[in-house]
Amino acid sequence: GATLGILGGGQLGRMFTIAARTMGYKVMVLDPDFASPAGQMADVHLQADYTDHGALKHLGSACAAVTTEFENVPAASLIELAQHCRVSPGAQCVAIAQDRSHEKSWLAQNGFATAPFALVYNEGDLDQGIADTGTPAILKVARFGYDGKGQARVNNLEEARAAFREFGGQPCVLEGFVKLEREVSVVLARDDAGRCALFPVAENRHENGVLDVSIVPARVTDALAGEARAMARDIAAQLGYVGVMAVEFFVADGRLMVNEIAPRPHNSGHYTLDACATDQFEQQVRALCGLPLGDTRLLSPVVMVNILGDRWQAGGPHWGTLLAHPNIKLHLYGKATPRPGRKMGHFNVLDADVATALQLAEQMRDAL
Ligand code: ATP
Ligand code: MG
Ligand code: MG
Repeated sequence: GATLGILGGGQLGRMFTIAARTMGYKVMVLDPDFASPAGQMADVHLQADYTDHGALKHLGSACAAVTTEFENVPAASLIELAQHCRVSPGAQCVAIAQDRSHEKSWLAQNGFATAPFALVYNEGDLDQGIADTGTPAILKVARFGYDGKGQARVNNLEEARAAFREFGGQPCVLEGFVKLEREVSVVLARDDAGRCALFPVAENRHENGVLDVSIVPARVTDALAGEARAMARDIAAQLGYVGVMAVEFFVADGRLMVNEIAPRPHNSGHYTLDACATDQFEQQVRALCGLPLGDTRLLSPVVMVNILGDRWQAGGPHWGTLLAHPNIKLHLYGKATPRPGRKMGHFNVLDADVATALQLAEQMRDAL
């Protein structure tokens, strides 16, 4: 079998590695961390920086194709790799998705609704920014934020200035605070020929900026779900995207706004592992290798629950009840050190009735 490469060794890379190996591929992981969840599981773990020219050359030469699970790989590294092998998604798409200012500007320029926003490069931009977004607003660092990190809610210009200074004056995006009815997301894959395979819409509940629960099918009208899928498909098409990507949406006043784009499989797509004909990581392998995209049909309603490191504080979770339940599938990422807020695993609860699945999911989460 051929060897596939992946930039990033987190849980997304680990689940990609599992899918790729199931399909007969060898996997090479590039990640600087010795103990990365995917690195431990790969055939080869290149322990080097994402900008290490030697490592990139080695990876590109050894692999038939390389993808990414880490949204912050420098675009230049993807360009470097593309001299040696197939790379998906492309550098341009990743460059847009990894920088909120580029992402928001691109969305607005291409006619996709977003929350009101303003680009902030220096303190002086905040005056007009606050005027444009209104208050309350959220100041977000343009780069390297995740799980709600690098974000501050601000109620006035003074607080916005303080938050901007707190972030060290780095480029930010100021967003109007949206009164959320709910949040939904769409994971999709797009191939070289422009064919798209969309997964069902997930409804996402966050806790302190971190995804807590995904509910599928989302409890929205068919019209809204259809609109979300159409928007996600159009975004992928207009980006010329090849590979798996996710689009997060806000729903407010019955209307959709794009929150952000992830150039990779997504936490809110973990339900596909147990509830869809093809899961998002197998789909990533297929898209990467130019194979036919898999069937994305939902086999059962499902609720996905994230397991964060917080649960380890009182002696660690007891998995017994989870594992004993016939409708629950547990996934752990093999991370050695649980930290509060750190994603350690997730479980999927299947039931013919989504309300029953949600009830059981909450009960099980609280019993951990
Ligand atoms: P991720 O881990 O999904 O990459 P992130 O750190 O990039 O997260 P966002 O997706 O921008 O952060 O925001 C995290 C969550 O905070 C959102 O899912 C939403 O619940 C809330 N949030 C973000 N921006 C807004 C907004 N403008 N109005 C209301 N709520 C918001
Ligand atoms: Mg994000
Ligand atoms: Mg997000």
